[in-house]
Amino acid sequence: MNRTKRYFITIFSILFFAMIFFMIHRFFIQDNRDVKKVKNPDDIMVLVNRKHELSPDYVPKDLVKPKVRFSPNMDSEKKMMRKEAANALEDLTKAADRNNIKLYCISGYRSYDTQNNIYQAKVKNAGEKEADKYVALPGKSEHQTGLAMDITNLRGIKGILTEDFGSTKEGKWLKENAYKYGFIIRYPKGKEKITGYCYEPWHVRYVGKNAAKDISERNLVLEEYLSKNNK
Ligand SMILES: [Zn+2]
Repeated sequence: MNRTKRYFITIFSILFFAMIFFMIHRFFIQDNRDVKKVKNPDDIMVLVNRKHELSPDYVPKDLVKPKVRFSPNMDSEKKMMRKEAANALEDLTKAADRNNIKLYCISGYRSYDTQNNIYQAKVKNAGEKEADKYVALPGKSEHQTGLAMDITNLRGIKGILTEDFGSTKEGKWLKENAYKYGFIIRYPKGKEKITGYCYEPWHVRYVGKNAAKDISERNLVLEEYLSKNNK
């Protein structure tokens, strides 16, 4: 009797785990099927995320190097941004300087290949699960648009980027003032399910002054803003 019981429990457990595995697998496959190719990569309002990917050969045509404070030892590709965003970033950091807020720019444009290297390095380091949580797959990173920049403070350039930046005086200033120069905090706290990314107080995205003001006043993320505007 005991043996029969054990037999049934074993069978039941196998079926149960097989079902869970099947559901996860199915969800993952479905997820990949949903990915759309970005059709307007040069648009300032372009949406790039886990479901909207850029083609591997997309490179913005108007990349320039903004005159801002960079983290030391940065390679030159990462200093680049699209012209309009670069000008706005200069205005933003000048305003910060006037308020004694010392911001450091640490990562702007990243090519498809660069993003791939970053992703692969993270997988090697921390495993696929952790990598997926924090690092975008190549083609799905906003950094490839040339419209995003990771910004931090002196402490941030010495270590790794952490959520704590959001509660430093530099992080708070950035959150309160970015919109005035056309930037949004792209991955805010509480919107992880919509953006698909964890809270990143350091990642700003250029969308232009009007959209940035609207997005921050209405406490939206880009995904919500674009769907509300039917774009
Ligand atoms: Zn970033």
